[in-house]
Amino acid sequence: MSVSANLAAIKKNIVEACERVGRNPADIRIIAVTKYVSVERAKEAYMAGITHFGENRDEGFLQKYEALGSEPTWHFIGTLQSRKVKNVIDKIDYLHSLDRLSLAKEIQKRATKPLKCFVQVNVSGEESKHGLTPQEVIPFIEKLKEFPNIIVVGLMTMAPFTDNEQDIRRCFRELKKLQEEIQTLHIPYAPCTELSMGMSNDYIIAIEEGATFIRLGTSLVGKE
Ligand SMILES: *Cc1c(COP(=O)(O)O)cnc(C)c1O
Repeated sequence: MSVSANLAAIKKNIVEACERVGRNPADIRIIAVTKYVSVERAKEAYMAGITHFGENRDEGFLQKYEALGSEPTWHFIGTLQSRKVKNVIDKIDYLHSLDRLSLAKEIQKRATKPLKCFVQVNVSGEESKHGLTPQEVIPFIEKLKEFPNIIVVGLMTMAPFTDNEQDIRRCFRELKKLQEEIQTLHIPYAPCTELSMGMSNDYIIAIEEGATFIRLGTSLVGKE
């Protein structure tokens, strides 16, 4: 399937999900996750009108960045080792995986301007997943006060690996609740207006529960 055809089907699903819950489709941004696919396929996505791109490893990111340039909005969605921060920091617009102070410290040191970050939260508690526990998030954000190069634009999570829709929904709902709690604190460097949640298998549920960024690989650009 062409990226255009996939995108049309996804947009239709987005509109329908928004209608069910009274949201504006313009508030949902699609990130094309190109980690499985070639530079050519990423270019096809760009030609199809995609403006947000996500990669989860520095090599893959740099390869796609070299091909598409700085015009798209670039999202780093995977675990970022501190020693690799310097390779990507000047090129990315958003980091979706802030989960520890050592990483914040390295970003503070290397960044030449504030970086928009999502704090990654392991809501489901699955051991294989990265991220802070929900209880750790607010104390963590409070410590980021010392790092003016970090702006907490929102929270990111990955749903549990299951077909049980209720478990997935509960996970997204908990992230939304945590976001609202953070917003009541009115922390200047943590507006926390965004929610990065929803992948190919669960993005419709994520939109119903408040996602503002969905991260789509397989369903949009495919898996080679
Ligand atoms: C790979 C990946 C995605 C996209 O996964 P699909 O299921 O192929 O849509 C989204 N988010 C993260 C963090 C990923 O690593």
